[in-house]
Amino acid sequence: MNMNREGRPTGTGSAPLEAINKAALLPSEPLLFEVGNVAHSGVDLPDVSIDDTRLGAFRRKSSLDLPGLSEPENMRHYVRLSRLNYSIDAGLYPLGSCTMKHNPRLNEKMARLPGFADVHPLQPISSVQGAIGVIAELAEWLMVLTNTKAVAMSPKAGAHGELCGMMAIKAAHEAKGEGHRNIVLVPESAHGTNPATAAFLGYKVVGVPAKADGTVDVQAVEAALSPDVAGIMLTNPNTCGLFEPDVKKIADAVHAAGGYFYCDGANFNAIMGVVRPGDLGIDAMHINLHKTFSTPHGGGGPGAGPVVLSKALAPFAPVPFVHAGETGLEFVEHVEGTKSFGRLTAFHGQMGMFTRALTYMLSHGGDGLKQAANDAVLNANYLKAKLEKVFTLPFGDQHCMHEVLANDDFLAGTGVTTLDFSKAMIDEGYHPMTMYFPLVVHGAMLIEPTESESLKALDAFADTMLELATAAKAGDVARFTSAPQNAPLKRLDETGAARKPILKWVREE
Ligand SMILES: *Cc1c(COP(=O)(O)O)cnc(C)c1O
Repeated sequence: MNMNREGRPTGTGSAPLEAINKAALLPSEPLLFEVGNVAHSGVDLPDVSIDDTRLGAFRRKSSLDLPGLSEPENMRHYVRLSRLNYSIDAGLYPLGSCTMKHNPRLNEKMARLPGFADVHPLQPISSVQGAIGVIAELAEWLMVLTNTKAVAMSPKAGAHGELCGMMAIKAAHEAKGEGHRNIVLVPESAHGTNPATAAFLGYKVVGVPAKADGTVDVQAVEAALSPDVAGIMLTNPNTCGLFEPDVKKIADAVHAAGGYFYCDGANFNAIMGVVRPGDLGIDAMHINLHKTFSTPHGGGGPGAGPVVLSKALAPFAPVPFVHAGETGLEFVEHVEGTKSFGRLTAFHGQMGMFTRALTYMLSHGGDGLKQAANDAVLNANYLKAKLEKVFTLPFGDQHCMHEVLANDDFLAGTGVTTLDFSKAMIDEGYHPMTMYFPLVVHGAMLIEPTESESLKALDAFADTMLELATAAKAGDVARFTSAPQNAPLKRLDETGAARKPILKWVREE
């Protein structure tokens, strides 16, 4: 994050008290080092006399420079910071492709049970049978929902899941003596993580164009296939919010050419309980528990992006495998007939996320998950029907899935850009939608309401969006180019924040 530190006292570690007090009212917050004072301590520790001769050259030469805060100062700092953050608990969060759905409090209650919250990966396996049972049950649900044969639970995010799935594909080719296959096909509408994953593993990325209707061109896939193609990475539903109608044909063509089908399953929330990706011919697919299964995005540690694998790829899944032994569940490093690509992470994945996701599944049931997917699609189509009166929707002649995509044609000639429009949404109390993604559409605005939102919330959001669009067309340019006004830091230098992030506090002497 790029913080505007202008006008703030920096250096000796203490902001004036009146500035701190005002921060309870003003949406701005000094750094922890500026709130506190390194000369103070929040705790009383007895004086110690340590024989430090054993430390040798490692004895600290300078002071530790920790910010000294009392408990209330510390508490208030973090509570004030949390108020600067827009969150799904504060309002509608229409970030397309990211699926910002409500995180049910029942999930939190279950994740905090000591048997899940306090487990340590190195404790004796006999003492964590219940926790491993939860992982195994979640794995079972994921395999049933996708009709696949194996699932790797350890990846820590969707992008990490992509890496895992593609490593399994690589291992499968190598096992067949086809390690020379060095090309991965990636449609133009793909999330940036797809080509990045393929490139990270040393593959050459070849783009596949989209058709005018926003879906992948089967003929272009067929034309790109060759004995050097390792596989395709395709998102379904795709990032234009459309179900790929030719997905089965694409899978068949890729398989016939000896490749594997990696499906980016970030949008599984639109089809869970309705379509089983295994039936469509996918070989590997990550599932973002923080999208589809309502676990928090970030917060409390890494996320979880389990990867389901087809029968063909199951033998190459990362170790360890969970195995029902004579004395209970156990981890095994090798199973007869498998050729694992090895270990992906130190331990077994993210217990807190697993517990939350399984809670979501059990509290919904199979029929409830299907209903959630249907409601997500219904909500998006409701917004689509409202917005299309003013917004330009490039694929508006089709029903959308869980997200609706606009381009910036309706802003042509107004002097307002997609970025300006997004910033003006902040002034109306909304987090902006995903913008400038997918790249196949100019000035993209990708809106995903999720199943969490009520009719009333959808109407209020649509009314705000329509009012903004009407204002832009009416020539009220300044409202957009000067936005946001109702935000702590106004318009940020986003390029500077990305290219020259200030990640370290440096004391100004
Ligand atoms: C979110 C997303 C990813 C990456 O998932 P992370 O958990 O953020 O790593 C990949 N592809 C698509 C389409 C996504 O929406």
